[in-house]
Amino acid sequence: MISSSHLLTVDVEDWPQSTLDHDLPIGDRVVTNTQRLLEILAQNRVRGTFFVLGRVAERHRRLSFEIAAAGHEVATHGYSHESVEDMPIKRFKEELHRSVEVLRQQIGKPILGHRAADFSISERSLSILECLVEEGLIYDSSIFPIQHPRYGIPGACRRPHLVRASSKALLVEFPLPTIGFGPLTLPVAGGGYFRCFPYWWTKRALGMIGAEGSTAACYLHPYELDTAELNETPYRIPTSLRWSQFTNRRSVRSKLARLLKDFRFLTMGEACKQMRANLQIALDLERCPISYQTVTSSM
Ligand SMILES: [Zn+2]
Repeated sequence: MISSSHLLTVDVEDWPQSTLDHDLPIGDRVVTNTQRLLEILAQNRVRGTFFVLGRVAERHRRLSFEIAAAGHEVATHGYSHESVEDMPIKRFKEELHRSVEVLRQQIGKPILGHRAADFSISERSLSILECLVEEGLIYDSSIFPIQHPRYGIPGACRRPHLVRASSKALLVEFPLPTIGFGPLTLPVAGGGYFRCFPYWWTKRALGMIGAEGSTAACYLHPYELDTAELNETPYRIPTSLRWSQFTNRRSVRSKLARLLKDFRFLTMGEACKQMRANLQIALDLERCPISYQTVTSSM
């Protein structure tokens, strides 16, 4: 056991609808895949933060309750899984509120956190974070401090930090995990990076993040445990997606078992309670243009 605490997060969505075509109906595999993941976490006595998509919650009305009843934290992954980057702000607010309300009613507790579909908050849409504060949320985990064709804010703070809204209220941001490698910032410990890199690399990266005195928001999707999906799906899947989305799904179960044994994990709500007093403000939404300030130390 390595002593650092990290954060285990799960984006609960149905792969064809979230990735292939947002107009597709939500299927049933998301339920069995999520239940499979809940079993693994129960066996390892690890609790995580589950960002549940609003459309999944409306289609499968007991799933969020099952997740919460197993001791995990339920947060929102938005409603439709469309990119929030180009979404009109009015629609973003409506979708956010709809997802928060359905989840709140299903689990009987306030919803505290948010993750944007595909980490789609970019430098030009940072003001979206204001909407999260207005909705009463206390944390977000959408910012990937890397250069990537579909997402990311290069130069964003790599550690958990505070965002100050115009109202002066504070939001905790848990960026997606990266390591600094010379002039490069490399993504680690989540999704395709977890599936495709060997486990020793993930373990080493999490050790490096822990040694920096920071914590990593590891992430995965229940469908990444689903090794039969490619053969059983009724939809035609382009070759590029076959490669990026299905490679090494077979390795996820064993890698996850090792990850859960090697590290300790907190939920994001717990992390907010433990860390918030020591975090620094790295983003002030009243500044214009909004941009990241240098954080010398935090946590
Ligand atoms: Zn997602």
